[in-house]
Amino acid sequence: MKIAVLAVQGAFIEHEQMLSRLGVDTIELRQRSDLEKHFDGLIIPGGESTVQGKLLRELGMLDELKARIENALPVFGTCAGLILLAKKIKNDERVHFGTMDIVALRNAYGRQLGSFYDENEFEGIGKIPMTFIRAPYIESVSGNVEVLARSGGNIVAARQKNQLVTSFHPELNDDLSVHKYFIDMIKNSK
Ligand code: GLN
Repeated sequence: MKIAVLAVQGAFIEHEQMLSRLGVDTIELRQRSDLEKHFDGLIIPGGESTVQGKLLRELGMLDELKARIENALPVFGTCAGLILLAKKIKNDERVHFGTMDIVALRNAYGRQLGSFYDENEFEGIGKIPMTFIRAPYIESVSGNVEVLARSGGNIVAARQKNQLVTSFHPELNDDLSVHKYFIDMIKNSK
């Protein structure tokens, strides 16, 4: 199994380290030609969604990746990655991939002081550490989106078939369980 990590901006190295600890090979997606390589799943890291969206368009990668996600490529978006996958962003007119039936609220906890640590139940895993950095949360879900975790009542993790999102950063804690969950999603999709 090989997992591609979008590596145009943001916290992609931390995801690669988590996957390597789980014995999974990774490739980095930095330019359009990288899409010719084989990969079984995709991670969209945290960072700045506006910058990542702009670069994906400029590099000519957005439409191709969107088509693959719509065609069932397993994808895991963390933080900015969640925003990129959302069909609607409550406080931003932009839509990037727009493949998941969620409404995201950017910088939902405030712009500067909105970073905090929390521990909450994650459906199918149990209690896990959650690090939030200028994080969004999911204001509402529709269609067949399954809510997987909440923090302070707000939705912070969800899944819709091949798409998994967390508004926190599982790659910044020692706990490998959310990455393991994503790897299982890929295995079960085969
Ligand atoms: N605030 C960022 C955004 O709106 C997301 C922050 C993050 O990915 N840690 O894109």
